Amino acid sequence: MMIKTMKDKKRPHSNGACMIKKKSIALLIILTSLSVAGLTETEPRGGGHEGVTSALSSIKSFFSPQKANAKDLIACPKTNEQSVKIVKVAKNIYVRKGLNEIFTKKNLAAIATVSFVVGEKSVAVIDTGGSYCDGARLLSEIRKITEKPISYVINTHTHPDHIFGNAAFEKEGPVFVGHKNLKRAMADRGNIYLENLTRIMGKDQLVGTKIIPPTLLVSKTTTIDLGQKKLELRAFGTAHTDHDLTVFDPDLKIIWTGDLLFHEHTPVVDGSILGWLEEMKKLSKIPAKFVIPGHGGPLLKWPKALGPQRDYLEKLTTDLRKIIEEGGTMRDAQNRAASSEKNKWKLFEEFNARNASTSFAELEWE
Ligand SMILES: [Zn+2]
Repeated sequence: MMIKTMKDKKRPHSNGACMIKKKSIALLIILTSLSVAGLTETEPRGGGHEGVTSALSSIKSFFSPQKANAKDLIACPKTNEQSVKIVKVAKNIYVRKGLNEIFTKKNLAAIATVSFVVGEKSVAVIDTGGSYCDGARLLSEIRKITEKPISYVINTHTHPDHIFGNAAFEKEGPVFVGHKNLKRAMADRGNIYLENLTRIMGKDQLVGTKIIPPTLLVSKTTTIDLGQKKLELRAFGTAHTDHDLTVFDPDLKIIWTGDLLFHEHTPVVDGSILGWLEEMKKLSKIPAKFVIPGHGGPLLKWPKALGPQRDYLEKLTTDLRKIIEEGGTMRDAQNRAASSEKNKWKLFEEFNARNASTSFAELEWE
């Protein structure tokens, strides 16, 4: 999901398709000039990154994760236990299902579904939660299960409920991984997200929270190895955002979609509604049997789980095209588009009108 208040004047991206296009062109120019200068980070070949991992593990030995964590946790406010419940969904795979809530003064932004995977040698964390304290709780749950080093922290995209727990893992010395556009997205929006969340949730809830950008960028696909546990990472085109990354466990046939798939929680369009529908076709071809979505879950059948979200996005598109054709206004779009989907989703009031305006702007220029 994304922060609801992003539609206020501080939002760096206007809802207008023109602005999106201008921004994309500007970004293209920046990327092109960087790559001409040979400055873009490239995707490592063959995956594995053992060299990086072993270098980091020597740094790690200076820290005692449990001590550091216990000390860090003292600063965190008390919260409800429901939000820290970790479920083992398969061998060596653990999931914390996010709360179907917006950011509040009580929930530590524990909204996204986050996971960790334990290999023979090390652990990968897939999304870190919505605040330093949410991430610290996840780390403490990991340490109840294994003492193995955390070699990778994978961020599926830049929304705060997925990345703001990163700082809790910093002392563990992992490689932070994301889509090739994630670094730019964090630079563009990170501070604004932090300001907005601090305003909504209060400083205590966000103690220690800061932006930790990725150091390993994925432009197409790459494989990481946790020791007898390989994970395939794949970068997608503009869909939920313009930097969605999936993780696939080819042995267990489990896919982590990040917010390319919402379950229960109303889907949130922050990239392109048409792009998302298109990318979902590619996504559905990944030969998984189960999915751990970015919201909801914890473990659903694949590709069946894509159905309700596809229905929602298609309904929203069809309704908006009709409203635009009839000369309807943005207000009509907010009131009417996809209204028949209302009872199928949680937080519908909070997000559907926003999706309608964002997508109205996109479809208006078809
Ligand atoms: Zn999201």
